[in-house]
Amino acid sequence: MDIVNRFLEEKNLSKEEYVQLLEKADDAMAREQLREEALRLRRKYYGDKIYIRGLIEFTNYCKNNCYYCGIRRGNANVRRYRLNKEDILKCCAEGYRLGFRTFVLQGGEDPYYTDERMVEIIKDIRQTYPDCAITLSIGERSRESYRKFRAAGTDRYLLRHETANEEHYRSLHPSEMSLANRKQCLYDLKELGYQVGAGFMVGSPGQTLEHLAEDLLFLKELQPEMVGIGPFIPHHDTRYADEKAGSVELTLFLLSVSRILLPKVLLPATTALGTMDAFGREKGLQAGANVIMPNLSPEQNRKDYSLYDNKICTGEEAAQCIVCLKRRVESVGCMISEERGDAV
Ligand code: SAH
Repeated sequence: MDIVNRFLEEKNLSKEEYVQLLEKADDAMAREQLREEALRLRRKYYGDKIYIRGLIEFTNYCKNNCYYCGIRRGNANVRRYRLNKEDILKCCAEGYRLGFRTFVLQGGEDPYYTDERMVEIIKDIRQTYPDCAITLSIGERSRESYRKFRAAGTDRYLLRHETANEEHYRSLHPSEMSLANRKQCLYDLKELGYQVGAGFMVGSPGQTLEHLAEDLLFLKELQPEMVGIGPFIPHHDTRYADEKAGSVELTLFLLSVSRILLPKVLLPATTALGTMDAFGREKGLQAGANVIMPNLSPEQNRKDYSLYDNKICTGEEAAQCIVCLKRRVESVGCMISEERGDAV
C-alpha cells in the first residue's frame, strides 16, 4: 500500500515509514490528500472556528543562548526590555476589548521574573479576567515553579521541544541545556494538569527528515493539546545568519500530518509561517491549523522581540492586526471565535 494511505489508515508508522511519508512532501497529490483529511478532521472537531490568542511578549531578557534565537543571551545588539505588571494588565485590557479570551505571556528565560513575581502577575490576570485562559511560555522551570503557576490560575503552557533528536538538540543549544530536561518539563506540565503545547521548527540548521520523523513520534507519545510548528528563519546576529530558512511547503505538510496524528490538537498557523509567505497563515489554516496568535505587546517593544529577521506585525497596533486577521481568516471560509478555545 502507498505510504500516504497507510498513514491515513493506521496512524502508527515506524520512524522509517515517517521518513517515507515526509519524502512525499514534494508530491502534490500526496500533499492534497493529507490536506483534505486534515481539513475534514479540523472541521469535525472545531467547525470553522479559528481561535485567537493574544500574545504578550513581556520580556526579551534571556539567560539562555540558543544558537538560532535573536534574543539569546550572547547577542549584545538587542535593546532589552521588561514589562511590569501594570504594562501587562494594560495589554490584557486592550486584548479583552478586542475579543481575546486567551492571553499568552511569552518571554525569554528572565530570572527577574521570580516565582513570586510571576504568581502575582498570574493572580491579578486571573482575578480581573475570570473568563479568560492564561497561557505561559517562559521556558524551563522547576516542577515546583510550574505547580505554583498552575495553582495561581494558569491553564496552559507552551514549551516547544525544538527537536526530538538528542544530537540535533545539542547542535542547536549550548551544553548547559538538554533535551532530557526539556522533555521532563513537558511531562511535569502534563501531570500538573496544564494543557500543554510542544512543537518544533521546520528546517532548523542540520535538520533531516529522520529528525522530523522523531518529532512526530515524540508528539504521538506525549499527546500534547497544542503543537507549535513554524519554519526556522535566520536571524542576522546569530551563527546561522547565512543559513537557509525552512520551507513553507514542508511546514504546511507537517501541519496536515500533525492534525491527522492528533485530530483534536490546537494548531496555530504561526507568525513565522506568515513571515515566510504573505499568505502563509491562510495556507496554514487550509492545511489544518485552527489557531492564530496575534501580537498584543506594546507597539514600542515589538521590534525588540526579534527571534528571527523580518517578523511581521511589528509595526501595527493590536486593533489594526485584528481587522486584518478577520479578513484573512474569512478569506479561507473560517471565522474568528471569541471563545476561550480550550482543547476538546
Ligand atoms: N523562552 C521560551 C519562549 C521561546 S520563543 C521558551 O524557551 O519556550 C518561542 C519559539 O520561537 C521557540 O520555542 C522557537 O521554536 C521559536 N524560534 C526561536 N528562534 C527562531 C528562529 N530563528 N526561527 C524560527 N523560530 C524561532
